Amino acid sequence: MALQDKDRIFTNLYGYQPWNLAAARARGDWDNTKALMERGRDAIIQEIKDSGLRGRGGAGFPTGMKWSFMPKESKDGRPSFLVINADESEPGSCKDREIIRHDPHKLIEGALVAGFAMGARAAYIYIRGEYIREAETLFAAVAEAYDAGLVGKNASGSGYDFDVFVHRGAGAYICGEETAMIESIEGKKGQPRLKPPFPAGAGLYGCPTTVNNVESIAVAPTILRRGAGWFASFGRENNKGTKLFQISGHVNKPCVVEEEMSIPFSELIEKHCGGIRGGKDNLLAVIPGGSSVPLVPAEQIWDAPMDFDGLRAVGSGLGTAAVIVMDKSTDIVRAISRLSYFYKHESCGQCTPCREGTGWMWRVMERLRKGDADVQEIDMLWNVTKQVEGHTICALGDAAAWPIQGLIRHFRPEIERRIAEKGDALREAAE
Ligand code: NAD
Ligand code: SF4
Repeated sequence: MALQDKDRIFTNLYGYQPWNLAAARARGDWDNTKALMERGRDAIIQEIKDSGLRGRGGAGFPTGMKWSFMPKESKDGRPSFLVINADESEPGSCKDREIIRHDPHKLIEGALVAGFAMGARAAYIYIRGEYIREAETLFAAVAEAYDAGLVGKNASGSGYDFDVFVHRGAGAYICGEETAMIESIEGKKGQPRLKPPFPAGAGLYGCPTTVNNVESIAVAPTILRRGAGWFASFGRENNKGTKLFQISGHVNKPCVVEEEMSIPFSELIEKHCGGIRGGKDNLLAVIPGGSSVPLVPAEQIWDAPMDFDGLRAVGSGLGTAAVIVMDKSTDIVRAISRLSYFYKHESCGQCTPCREGTGWMWRVMERLRKGDADVQEIDMLWNVTKQVEGHTICALGDAAAWPIQGLIRHFRPEIERRIAEKGDALREAAE
């Protein structure tokens, strides 16, 4: 079942109406938020669990379960915190940007109900440094919410005190990793911590903390108002709800769109993007979930359901649902090599397999791109990716390894062709 307009949560995704409080209220936001909170902490968490909402930042961890890890009572007088990850930096991802630009009150109201449910004293919204206009909007929207008594002391008349702080990042991709983000908010260098302990045990300032993505928090008030059953009626088992997809690259009309989870790739592209540039037969490959997931060749992606399980079944993942479409004009080896450079550049450098491995992988990728390599180096590169994958502190190591693995798995003949052509050219020149 394709999503109808009436089922969309983000009714101002394209900014046809103002983002401000008056317009947000007219769209239904902040409508008796106190009543949502009066249901009680456990009931809110149960509703989110029942909705099947899984984290929208990429990893897909069940949101209600994550909230339930927070302590029921404060230990030793320590406060709890909610950190909202708006450091949207994954190449291809641009959905949280649209929420903040056009629907910031959904996020702020979500922060209050989620923060209340997990017993948090305050929310820190960590927004990527490059989102300058978006940060301005967010600061202004938070100020509006304070002025209207919606957050702060006795937030929304609920008797619950809840602050919302906006914290700007400074351009480091790694600060999107939840524990690096916590370090950064604490004023330290943004480097991931070893997990466990997970943030719910020891997070911001050593206090119980939940880190959630912008979209996960912004959908919460609508789920509570319309009910878990409504949200869970979209998608399929284990992959419920509506989802913001961001489609870029070689489609006729790139866009961000809210659709039903599990929509087939072909339907998403034909219905919202005007099809593949040059037609279906011109499709080469797709990176379906932001640059940290492996690419999928055209023949495997076309009918795939766009959800966690459907994309895992074709050797990739939903990630942030940033769908990067590449047609046959793409130099696929160059594209993946460029991504390798990105990960090398963004590695924080604290663990050896990632710090050294990302540089190795990029340098070998560059030689393969130029064909300036021995064919055995393809296997060597595969081995290097396997030595990086799973052997690092955070997921950046895996994210650097997987795109290369996807390339070798599906486009090995293309790499071999380049090496053979270069060899032929050198031999001809020598003769
Ligand atoms: P993860 O699987 O390690 O963790 C996901 C979440 O679940 C975290 O909040 C973690 O604390 C929690 N969690 C996991 N196991 C837990 C446990 N046993 N107990 C308590 N909490 C637990 O993944 P991650 O490193 O947080 O995220 C990786 C994903 O981030 C990738 O899949 C990628 O798609 C995505 N990503 C997104 C962006 C972006 O711009 N949105 C950028 C880079 C990466
Ligand atoms: Fe830093 Fe890379 Fe290690 Fe993550 S995997 S902690 S980015 S060096």
